[in-house]
Amino acid sequence: MTRELVEGRECGGCSICCKVFMIKELQKFDYKWCTHARPGSGCAIYTHRPTVCQDFLCVWRLDPDLEHDHRPDFLGVMFYSRSVRLGHREVIVYFIMEFEFGASRKRFVQEQDRDYRAQGYITIIQTGVTDKGYINEIQWSPQFFSRDDIRRLKQRI
Ligand code: SF4
Ligand code: SF4
Repeated sequence: MTRELVEGRECGGCSICCKVFMIKELQKFDYKWCTHARPGSGCAIYTHRPTVCQDFLCVWRLDPDLEHDHRPDFLGVMFYSRSVRLGHREVIVYFIMEFEFGASRKRFVQEQDRDYRAQGYITIIQTGVTDKGYINEIQWSPQFFSRDDIRRLKQRI
């Protein structure tokens, strides 16, 4: 997948990435709304938001195979991918971040998870979000990764 944006697709009323990520520059914890977020209308400090915000794109903005209804605020789950170095190779990890209870069990989300793993990516499903934290469930296909790879990954995330 490239970083090419899906033509005509805009964030619109979605501000979910302003909730799910930890942003050190703003001393913002993950799964807590940014104090600058105005869900439905955007960011109150848009022109001088941190670089990390300017650079971020979730998978829905990049993958033309996703439908309009898969926008994170509609789906209850946000997909995002990042590359992680494991020894001598660079691997793609798909994060499946659930911010609505049970949304990661939707059939579409489960199918995406399986597809990513079948293509040789690692997936990390984040569920069970409470004030105390959340659960990271790491999944992979043994044909692509060993348990040592996964141990290394755990040290990197
Ligand atoms: S989660 Fe994706 S669609 Fe929603 S605001 Fe962020 S980048 Fe846009
Ligand atoms: S600074 Fe703006 S873009 Fe960044 S997380 Fe906060 S509301 Fe979102």
